[in-house]
Amino acid sequence: MATTVEKPAITESISIHPPRRLLFGPGPSQVHPRVYRAMAQPVVGHLDAYFFEISGNVQRMLRQVFGTQNELTFVISATGSGGMETAISNFVQPGTKVVSFANGFFCDRMSEMARRQGSELVRFEKPWGEVFGDEEAAEFIRSQKPQVVMYVQAETSAGAFQRGDAICKAAHEVGALVIADCVTSLGAMPVEVDKTGIDVAYSCTQKGLSCPPGLSPITVSPRAAEWLKARETPNRSWYFDLKLIADYLTVSHRYHHTASATMFYALHEGLTLIEEEGLEDRWERHHKAHLEFVKGVEAMGLEMLVPAANRIWNLNTPKVPQGVDEAKVRATLLKEHGIEIAGGFGPLAGKIFRIGVMGPLATSDHVHGLLAAFGKALRGAGYGR
Ligand SMILES: *Cc1c(COP(=O)(O)O)cnc(C)c1O
Repeated sequence: MATTVEKPAITESISIHPPRRLLFGPGPSQVHPRVYRAMAQPVVGHLDAYFFEISGNVQRMLRQVFGTQNELTFVISATGSGGMETAISNFVQPGTKVVSFANGFFCDRMSEMARRQGSELVRFEKPWGEVFGDEEAAEFIRSQKPQVVMYVQAETSAGAFQRGDAICKAAHEVGALVIADCVTSLGAMPVEVDKTGIDVAYSCTQKGLSCPPGLSPITVSPRAAEWLKARETPNRSWYFDLKLIADYLTVSHRYHHTASATMFYALHEGLTLIEEEGLEDRWERHHKAHLEFVKGVEAMGLEMLVPAANRIWNLNTPKVPQGVDEAKVRATLLKEHGIEIAGGFGPLAGKIFRIGVMGPLATSDHVHGLLAAFGKALRGAGYGR
């Protein structure tokens, strides 16, 4: 009997009707319409030749966006925190000496993961929003002589961008591997893994790549790959074991887990959009939108938490003006304009807004629309009266 594949009736209505939001928060960011269309395509099996064709293209395009030649560049089936857990569980073992540069919430999450692996953890701490200078960072690494160094490139809890060249140089001098969290920066600003000297970098799909949450791109330098090959005990985490995942996605194509074809389609489309625009043009677009946004909020009399030279382009952190209830501002934006932004938390709770301008929303028109609504919501919360 011949089997036929029926086309699903696409006119049938479905059970959910999500509200339409403009996602100006720190993530998830606005999903590009073409990504949604890619996600509506038929699922293939996780071992289908077509799946590996898509996965291979994704690997090639990711190398470009990460700025790396690393052979080991692929995707973990998890959110950004899964990429973090992959990086840390594979390269940190009981007794590994780890230096963690700690200036925000996600650095703390990395520290916690390293602790749980039984590492000997040493933290260099700074207040949220500050960054580490080249000299002090290098000095700390030289004095501690760790085996692994960790830092967050774009610390989303505070809006600060940490340069990594001096950290990587000093780490390599003492023979340490460098793990960098590039979750928010990838696709929106220069990550430059090879130029910076990062050994292991990971990211997510729902911030700079304009896709829904669900996958975590990761890249591993030849040095780190050698180290991993020589590791004697298996990773305590089976699911995040890089050797097993690399085997599935790049070598034998043997089953490890059921990767979501839908999410791989999404990422394929998100990366194709970047390739079409040109990576540097895309950075430039985000930089321009960032500068326009900052100019707009400063014209309203707001101050930015982070000094100009250290700002993340796609995640802005203006301070909440004196006497303004930031939760009220956010509620108004959501209710009256369908705009989602976020507030600060931890030591910055009630003190900053976190406003992401990225992907399809990083345009002059969207920035102006956002600024108008934001200004109105601020006035409604008592600002300027
Ligand atoms: C969002 C974020 C993460 C965590 O990613 P999830 O996708 O929420 O798991 C990690 N690090 C940084 C810097 C982030 O901004």
